[in-house]
Amino acid sequence: MRVKDHPVLSFPEREEITFTYQGKEVTARQGETIAAALHNHGVLELSKSGDKLRPRGLFCSIGKCSSCLMTVDGVPNVRTCITLAQEGMVVEKQEGFPDLPREAEPLEPSSTETRETDVLVIGGGPAGLKASLTAADAGGDVTLVDENPFLGGQLIKQTHKFFGSSDLDAGTRGIAIGDDLVGAVKAHENIEEMTGTSAVGVYKEAVGLYKNMEKFVKLNPGKLIVATGATEKMIPFPNNDLPGVYGAGGIQTLMNVHGVKPGKSAVIVGAGNVGLIVTYQLLQAGVDVQAVVEVAPEIGGYFVHAAKIRRFGVPILTCHTVLEVVGEERVEGVRIGEIDENSELLQESTQYLDVGIVGLSVGLSPSYKLLAHAGCELQLNPVLGGYVPIRDQRMRTTRDDVYVAGDASGIEEATSAMLEGTIAGADAAIELGVGGGREEEKIDDCLNKLKDLRAGPYYRELRKSIQGVEIG
Ligand SMILES: Cc1cc2nc3c(=O)[nH]c(=O)nc-3n(C[C@H](O)[C@H](O)[C@H](O)COP(=O)(O)OP(=O)(O)OC[C@H]3O[C@@H](n4cnc5c(N)ncnc54)[C@H](O)[C@@H]3O)c2cc1C
Repeated sequence: MRVKDHPVLSFPEREEITFTYQGKEVTARQGETIAAALHNHGVLELSKSGDKLRPRGLFCSIGKCSSCLMTVDGVPNVRTCITLAQEGMVVEKQEGFPDLPREAEPLEPSSTETRETDVLVIGGGPAGLKASLTAADAGGDVTLVDENPFLGGQLIKQTHKFFGSSDLDAGTRGIAIGDDLVGAVKAHENIEEMTGTSAVGVYKEAVGLYKNMEKFVKLNPGKLIVATGATEKMIPFPNNDLPGVYGAGGIQTLMNVHGVKPGKSAVIVGAGNVGLIVTYQLLQAGVDVQAVVEVAPEIGGYFVHAAKIRRFGVPILTCHTVLEVVGEERVEGVRIGEIDENSELLQESTQYLDVGIVGLSVGLSPSYKLLAHAGCELQLNPVLGGYVPIRDQRMRTTRDDVYVAGDASGIEEATSAMLEGTIAGADAAIELGVGGGREEEKIDDCLNKLKDLRAGPYYRELRKSIQGVEIG
């Protein structure tokens, strides 16, 4: 189901390619992921789970969960949400744990490579893009890797005008901010960009990168900047694993990047800014949103976002929660109900909504695994979203050659991610001795902007939490 007549986006016709799914030919648009192409053909179930053979569909759509694993050209466990469909590909559904392919051989020597770089940036979202540009502007030689096929991180799907500070891109659409940054990175002669490349481990002598399922690169950086973003959280309720239950960002990727509607009707869980924005974007794409369900007594997002969706007549039901998803193979409906001040269900309040999409917008947790792998000290910090690395104001972790920036350092916004990325990139350049002289000034400017951004009573807890993980 393609999105048509979108008020912000256009999806011009692109060349079509053909691949096979379960032995049948299906079409995809050039530049579309396998999972998006299958969704367009109504295929929601991508695999059966390892142990209980439960149906599994797309959830995060950024390569961070295991919901979309399929066998592609004989290779099992391929993340089809970040793998582009290619002409002639053979795609098969996995039923339980897959076998290792019989012909699996160690990689040929020609498919491994060992290299050096001044700065390796992992993650091409706003934090990583800014870190790369800053270190490269200073004269450093930068390698930027991202496991998604496109640079931009979460920005490539943010069609709304950004909230945040007025002198820091507020009022500009996220996609426009992303386009500018990605354009600058692509044009920069000091930056080598490697998309479709996963950083899989941090070792003593190198960082291991796996490129396009073909090549293993051992990259030895002078400084490493980890800007791996965040992962969508899940909440427990019966059938929360059925195809049709998506993370909010997963819905955005399908609709706003690939122009594919996730379904016809939806319920969104969570009335923070992300939930409200995704609701509005679903409405823009022509999806019927029946309700936004919020367990707290108050809406967490900004009034302006709530007002927009109320104008469409979508109710925002506070003190409500999801009781269960109904369906066998996919979401067929959802039961919701109201809770009292003791979190007890008010039995008479339960209602069934006939929808095919349940969108979860219940928070994000920092993607910290590579930092843990690198031996950086971590702290569990609920306000910042989960485990975050201990660091100083210049984003240096407890390993002096490893930096962090953006959501990986604690969940905030793209604006703070860009400021932190700039700080990390500038400090890495100074430490490597490649700085052009303006880096200290840039760091001071960003630190002041971060202070302004986090000012005010609304951010009191956040400020306290950040101080709690900062050294020095
Ligand atoms: C619906 C929604 C609306 C939002 N609206 C706003 C808004 O209005 N204003 C605002 O300021 N912020 C907004 N945000 C938040 C903002 O998008 C994020 O805070 C920001 O994108 C974080 O930037 P980042 O660079 O840290 O991470 P990301 O943008 O998530 O980028 C991380 C990148 O790292 C890559 N990566 C991860 N692991 C690896 C690995 N092992 N190897 C290689 N690559 C890897 C990922 O593929 C990804 O591209 C919104 C977020 C959402 C979901």
